[in-house]
Formats: sequence, C-alpha cells, structure tokens
Amino acid sequence: MIPSRDELLKKAVSTKRWDIIIIGGGATGLGVAVDAATRGYTTLLVEARDFGKGTSSKSTKLIHGGVRYLRQGNIKMVMKALRERGRLLNNAPHIVHPLRFVVPCYRWWHKPWYGIGLKLYDALARNLGIAPSKILNREETLSYVPGINPVGLRGGVEYWDGQFDDARLLVSLAQTAVLNQAIVLNYVEVVDLVKTKGLVTGVRVRDVESGTTFELEAQSVINATGIETDFVRRMDNVAAAPMMQAAQGIHVVVDSSFLSTDTAIMIPDTDDGRVLFGVPWHGKLLVGTTDTPREEISKEPEPLEVEIDYLISHIARYLSKPFTRKDVLSVFAGLRPLVRANKAETKSISRDHTLEVSASGLVTITGGKWTTYRQMAEDAINRAERALGRPRRPSITRTLALSDRTSSDATSGSGSKQIHPDLPYTEDDVRRAVTDEWARSVEDVLARRTRSLFLNAAVAMEVAPKVANLMANELGWDENRQQSEVKGFLQVAKIYSVHHI
Ligand SMILES: Cc1cc2nc3c(=O)[nH]c(=O)nc-3n(C[C@H](O)[C@H](O)[C@H](O)COP(=O)(O)OP(=O)(O)OC[C@H]3O[C@@H](n4cnc5c(N)ncnc54)[C@H](O)[C@@H]3O)c2cc1C
Repeated sequence: MIPSRDELLKKAVSTKRWDIIIIGGGATGLGVAVDAATRGYTTLLVEARDFGKGTSSKSTKLIHGGVRYLRQGNIKMVMKALRERGRLLNNAPHIVHPLRFVVPCYRWWHKPWYGIGLKLYDALARNLGIAPSKILNREETLSYVPGINPVGLRGGVEYWDGQFDDARLLVSLAQTAVLNQAIVLNYVEVVDLVKTKGLVTGVRVRDVESGTTFELEAQSVINATGIETDFVRRMDNVAAAPMMQAAQGIHVVVDSSFLSTDTAIMIPDTDDGRVLFGVPWHGKLLVGTTDTPREEISKEPEPLEVEIDYLISHIARYLSKPFTRKDVLSVFAGLRPLVRANKAETKSISRDHTLEVSASGLVTITGGKWTTYRQMAEDAINRAERALGRPRRPSITRTLALSDRTSSDATSGSGSKQIHPDLPYTEDDVRRAVTDEWARSVEDVLARRTRSLFLNAAVAMEVAPKVANLMANELGWDENRQQSEVKGFLQVAKIYSVHHI
C-alpha cells in the first residue's frame, strides 16, 4: 500500500528531527531522496507544487550522453552521462527504453563526419552501450524514417540512446523513496530556513493546501530547487551572489504521421548551431528544442512566437509532408537550470552539475541533466553525510531497481474505460493517480500522471470535467471544487495550445 498524502503529512509533523530534509521535488530532489532513504537515513522531501511541475516534466524525454556535448569537446561529461544511461536502462526498464535515432545526411561528407563522431559516442559508453552505430544508405534511411524529405538525401547514420517519460519516472522515484521509509510531500513549500547558532538546522514550511505553517528540524538540509535555487540560497544568506541562469527550451507535439516510424531523427546542425530532435513519444511526434536565455523565472513559462516559428520552419525542411502551425497539438516550455558562466550564450554553458555547501551548512545541488540525476544525488548525500557525523554509508542506487508500480500503460487494456478516444489513458489511470501517485489537482492528472496535456491540449481541455468528476469520487470534492479545478486547469492548458498564442 502506498500511503496517502495525509498519512505522510501526519508523519512529517510528528517526527521530531530528520537526518535529511530535501527542498524540491524534481529529478534532482527525488533522486536525492531515494539515495538518502536507501542509505538508511530518515528523509523528508517537500515540493512547493506538484512533483515535476518545474523543469523535470518538460524535457525532451531523452536519457542520453548528449551527442552535441561531444562536439563541444566535453568528453568526460558525455562519458558520465552514458554510464548513467546504462544504469537507468537496467534500473527502470518499465519507463526507460532504447530508441533508434537516425541522423539524415544531405551532404557527401555528413556520413563519414557523423559516422566517426557516433563511433566515439559508442566507445564512450563502454560496456554500458546499447547497440553499435551504423552508416545507412539512402534506402535504409528511408525505410527507417519514411516521412523524411527524400530530396537530396544521401543516407544517414543510425545510433541508439534512451527514451523515457520524465513525469512518470518522477512518480517512480517518489514511490521508491516512500517504499524505503522516506516521506515525500507535494504542495508543501519551504518559506524560510531555520538556523541555530549560525547553522541551518531545519526549514519553515507552509502546507499549501491548508495554509498551515510549521517548522521541521534536520541535521542536513539540501536545496534541490532547480531554477529557483538562488531564492533558497538567499534564505540562507541574503547577500548570496546569483548562481543560476535560466535558458528556455520549448517543444511542439504533432501527429506521428509526420515521420510514420518508431525511430527518432536528430538534426545535428540548425541555423543557430543547435541540434534538433524529432522523437516518437506516446504515439505522437515530439519536436524540440530551443535555447532562449530568460531573465524572468516564471512558474509556468510560456513559449515565445519566435521559438514556435523556429521549430516549425526547421523541422519542416526535413519532412516530406507539409508542416504548419495548425498541425501543432501541444506546445510546452521549460527552463533549464544552468549554472552561470562568463559566456553570453546559454547553449554553450556546461550541463555539468554543481554542488555547493554554504558557511551555514546548506547543501545546494543544481545544474546537470535528467540523465545524471542519480550521480548528482549520490554526490549530494556523500557531501551531506559529513554534517551527520556518523560513519559513512555507501550509496546503493547504481543497481537499485526503481518502483514499477507506475506504468500508466499497465492498466490500459485492463478493461477500464478510456477517458477519451484520442488519449491512451483509462478511468483506472485517473483513480490510481489519486490513490497511489499523490495527484491533488486536475492539472496533476492531465499534465503529469497522464501526459494528456502534452499530447493534445485541446483534447485535455475537453476531458477536464470528466477527470474532475472521477477525482471527486476519490477526494470528496463538491460541485464547486470540481468547477474551480476545471477552471484552473483550462487557464494553464491555454499556454499549451498554440492556437491561443
Ligand atoms: C527544454 C528542456 C529539455 C531538456 N531535455 C533533457 C533531456 O532530454 N534529457 C536530460 O537528461 N535532461 C534534459 N533537460 C534537463 C533536465 O530536464 C533538468 O536538468 C532537470 O529536470 C532539472 O531538475 P531539477 O530537479 O534540478 O529541477 P526542477 O524539475 O525544476 O525541480 C525543482 C523543484 O523545486 C521546487 N521548489 C522550488 N522552490 C521551492 C521551495 N521553496 N519549497 C519547495 N519546493 C520548491 C519547484 O517547484 C520544482 O518542482 C532538459 C531541460 C529543458 C528545459
């Protein structure tokens, strides 16, 4: 049995002191919670909104070394990420799976050039590789990706990487942490740090649902708040110099018929020197991404016109079927938590992670990528252990199987009614999102427990009242609450609908 949020909250309030409190329930924070709990430390994680409401549900959904970092010469980082890719494929096979990529080649030198680069990529994965890369002729390329523009096509290069559902992996991490005695709470915000004799000894939190505030004590407090890292650092030290730089990336989702395949494409060189992916995902095609520096840190970042135009105009060149704005089913924006560098362009800032311990003992872990969350977590707990003053315990997460009670595909086909003919989710998925996965709002269910909003914004809007009704039965909502849930969801969903922009 997975304990409910109420049960977890009660335990949190009645516990005198924690070994470790983690702030932030994205990939980094939940990874840290799993690492800490499985080493046997008493662990509490608090997330101000929903798990993954920040950046971690808005990625390109790739578990990868990052071919483009290879081009930047960051071999060590690629190697580390490829090692993590191999581990995740082993530890969470119900969510992370191998995916074939094809780099389409339109110039004579592309095949040898990308072919050699991808052989290096293979080699860096060592014994954790998926399958060797291969040069493809024109016919093979067209057979793997029938939707690709054939004009001038000379062939391609095939390679393999990992793909996943980011928000589903977060649920799996949260469940794994709880099954190992951790407490994880969504909708509990840290509003201040508690200090004793100049050292951080706990957090002051607000239960967003009830409005109650209370204090929780810990031997070590870990800041894993992604793009909001500096806000928490300033709770510790008002004069803390900013560390974070946000870079927005957007994706558009379209019908799978544009590529008609289960193979992804990688375009290695766009006009502004970025890579572009077209990735089959839950029966649709996900296209991304951009890299736009943002000064403002929004809790619900909005795609810019210019970003949408950029993606559409670039991907259209590589597809045989005409691709226009009206084909976009959903668009979503996320903010990369990059650690500042003295460089003007965010696309060239390192994706390596940063660990900082302040004079008062606050541990901050940030930067990095989804793919490397586990290594980030291990490093953070290794560092936090010093504050615990006990014999060190090694991390066991390299080979730890993650909870597999989460696959939303599991109930599809179980006989439960689909919530909408255009969505691969059932009424049971909605109920289970509430009972086993801590969904608290219609948005939690439609955006992150199922990925309806990301797959088709208009359909998600249509199905919202039905989802509110199903949730009402589980959570005891009255008519007013159902209506306000739907209204709140529609406001967020508009941002995902390109036709409203
Ligand atoms: C467009 C895009 C594409 C990407 N694609 C990939 C990819 O394909 N593969 C890959 O490996 N990586 C990818 N990344 C990178 C990856 O998504 C991020 O590195 C990762 O999700 C960051 O996780 P995080 O936990 O540090 O931050 P977040 O997910 O933002 O989590 C931080 C959490 O802290 C919470 N929080 C903030 N303040 C408080 C507070 N006071 N109290 C309590 N909680 C608080 C927030 O609500 C938030 O949920 C991509 C990133 C972007 C933007």
